[in-house]
Amino acid sequence: MSGRLHARGTERVHKNVWLEFARLAADYKAVNLGQGFPDFSPPEFVQDAFCKAVSGGHQMHQYTRPFGHPPLVHILAKFFGRIVGREIDPLEDVLVTVGAYQALFCAFQALIEEGDEVIIVEPFFDCYQPMVKKAGGKPVYVPLRPVSGDGSAVPSSGDWVLSPEELASKFTPRTKAVVINTPNNPLGKVYKTEELQVIADLCIKHDVLCISDEVYEWLTYDGNKHVKIAGLPGMWERTVTIGSAGKTFSATGWKVGWAIGSEQIIQRLKAMHQMSVFDCATAAQEAVARGFEREYELFGTPESYFQQLPAMLHQKREKLASCLGGAGLQPVMPEGGYFMIADTSSVTVDFSDFMSTDDEPHDFRFVKWLIKEKGLATIPVSAFYSPEHRKDFDKYIRFCFIKEDSTLDAADDILRTFSQRQ
Ligand code: PMP
Ligand code: GLN
Repeated sequence: MSGRLHARGTERVHKNVWLEFARLAADYKAVNLGQGFPDFSPPEFVQDAFCKAVSGGHQMHQYTRPFGHPPLVHILAKFFGRIVGREIDPLEDVLVTVGAYQALFCAFQALIEEGDEVIIVEPFFDCYQPMVKKAGGKPVYVPLRPVSGDGSAVPSSGDWVLSPEELASKFTPRTKAVVINTPNNPLGKVYKTEELQVIADLCIKHDVLCISDEVYEWLTYDGNKHVKIAGLPGMWERTVTIGSAGKTFSATGWKVGWAIGSEQIIQRLKAMHQMSVFDCATAAQEAVARGFEREYELFGTPESYFQQLPAMLHQKREKLASCLGGAGLQPVMPEGGYFMIADTSSVTVDFSDFMSTDDEPHDFRFVKWLIKEKGLATIPVSAFYSPEHRKDFDKYIRFCFIKEDSTLDAADDILRTFSQRQ
């Protein structure tokens, strides 16, 4: 097809890591600790709210307010206003989107222009890069680096840190935004206030935006607390905070997400939303609104799902870490989120009869081998890095642990045989 017949940035759909590895996992009927989604149902209170919504009369089956169903934007504003300690205007400062994906897409399209530089902290959720590029921006990468201890402690995502000097060196007069993700996918790092303050100070100094992807905000362990960068002094007016009901209520298929920020920023995102999706599914928003209303009342109590889900996941995290340790795959303990990365370097695999191209990163080969030969699906971590830094991190693979114990047991059975053969 001649170049005139298509637009820049649309040629690479076949390279998408999720498509590739979801397909392989299905083809090989692998135990699936790959793509991140629960293999159990959302809590009953949101399921009931959804059922009630769809049987509750004609309005729930028709369009709602384009920028967000009124009960949902009201409770989101109330909930997040309480956390950041400021009044959030439900009609001006909140936009409901088709999952966090569309919030990210609207943010990049609405805020990034041709030639703008966007600093992305690695490892990063893979869609940031093509989204920035499609908007005409130039991604500039800065990796979190593991600081090595004395080798006695279990490696933790908290050991992975940004160098303030390296980060500062990435700012130029063309820098428009910094993108962070806390708790981080795939690493599980939960940024501490001091770390966020370094980023915030640089954003303020250089007058740039911060796009903060906080979809795993309720999932933290070992007393780590999620902190919103938008709540730091001087950051509200320059931060877009992105969230997802998929992660919040274990309902990834509902595809309800949001962006919260100052009216000046959110109105730009609204313009994009209006040009593209215009309106999101009414009943799903209604159910998410009811879920948040319940959580608002129960906040901080043992009945709150925002307490119960991380408590349940904490046990799953321990279980997976011990399986991986036993198989010689050294895990990095995540402080948050529902993924765990593990170091494959002590495992030698003979890839010689294995169909893979020579230039494929080690973790891609390893994951393919694990799916095809062992029936266990995971995700290669170098997919979360820029081409410049991919090679430095291709010894890690990512496991998802928001799975039934029976699924984790099936993975354990595979990992046990695997370790015996080494
Ligand atoms: N950001 C991160 C870090 C994610 O892991 C995901 C999961 N897909 C998303 C955004 C997108 O979320 P959603 O499913 O709500 O579109
Ligand atoms: N966020 C999920 C993950 O990281 C799903 C990604 C996707 O489907 N694109 O696994």
